[in-house]
Amino acid sequence: MAGEPQGDCLFCKIVAGEVPATVVRESETTLAFRDINPQAPTHVLVIPKAHHTDAAALAAEAPEIAADVLREAGEIARQEKTEDDGYRIVFNTGAGAGQTVFHAHAHVLGGRGLTWPPG
Ligand code: 5GP
Repeated sequence: MAGEPQGDCLFCKIVAGEVPATVVRESETTLAFRDINPQAPTHVLVIPKAHHTDAAALAAEAPEIAADVLREAGEIARQEKTEDDGYRIVFNTGAGAGQTVFHAHAHVLGGRGLTWPPG
């Protein structure tokens, strides 16, 4: 069921403390931790603690928590001092777009020049 922890989900295991992560911020509904394979000096993942498969599912199933994820992404940018130079919030959605973990997450990327279009 939407929102329920999934036993085979890596990010549900991080929320449960079963897989270690470098947590940089936490709220009642969200967790933010450093990406294990950073693509920029700042590369933080912000996830809802509840399981939703991707950003679109999160927005449909729990729009208030989708707003929490976005708010926390902005707070990460402030915390990491990347907001002045600009930063990027990315939701890879679907395998074809590069999504590899099917628990909704925002990538917060900053600390270097970011080109457009993305790869
Ligand atoms: P996606 O490709 O689904 O958009 O993003 C998944 C992200 O999770 C990738 O950037 C990947 O490096 C990161 N990741 C995968 N496994 C782990 C892990 O065990 N710990 C952390 N902190 N990040 C992970």
